[in-house]
Amino acid sequence: MTKGHHDYSPEALAASMNIPGVSPELRDRVQQCVAFHTYPAPGVLIGAFMVDYALELLGANPEQKLYAVCETPKCLPDAVQVIARCTTGNQRLRVVPIGKFAITLNGVSDQKTTDAIRVYVDLEKLKKFPTIDTWYANSPAYDKATMKGALQDEIFRAGRAILSFERVQVGVRSKRKWKSVTCPSCGETVPDYMIEGDHCGACGSMKYYKRLS
Ligand SMILES: [Zn+2]
Repeated sequence: MTKGHHDYSPEALAASMNIPGVSPELRDRVQQCVAFHTYPAPGVLIGAFMVDYALELLGANPEQKLYAVCETPKCLPDAVQVIARCTTGNQRLRVVPIGKFAITLNGVSDQKTTDAIRVYVDLEKLKKFPTIDTWYANSPAYDKATMKGALQDEIFRAGRAILSFERVQVGVRSKRKWKSVTCPSCGETVPDYMIEGDHCGACGSMKYYKRLS
């Protein structure tokens, strides 16, 4: 493992997690999340606890086919991808950029809707964990340089104690049928449902590059 842009080693992380509240299985999961994320971001550490909790509440394990929604694009999707194996690529992870630190997890269903578990960071419960509380609120009182270690220790000490859950109902995502359509502007093909008016996204609202030659 090479060091990322933050000072971090799996050994230091293991030492920090070596407390009774963090099971050996969860320690492994946290290490995998951190390796994938490239550094132990507080959000990915809390995310590991969130996914672990949601799996237990759902009575599911990562071997099963699961579907997830992340309510923020920051950090949390990586914990979901690594632990629950709902990924952007397998299309079982949907990131809804609401800006809340919450996830919803559900299993396979042949109905239009299904029951799911939503796990979120509970602001009331955060009051007992002042370092996490100041970090989470993006307060000027949080000083990364001096409080990073204390924050990490507090996250492991807190574990699920900062989380709450609710049982919710979500829509079941179904596979879409599609045809291949050629964009008249660039000559490349896209699925018909991706066409914007008469051209593809790259020739329209999703243009992100300029041809150099
Ligand atoms: Zn085009």
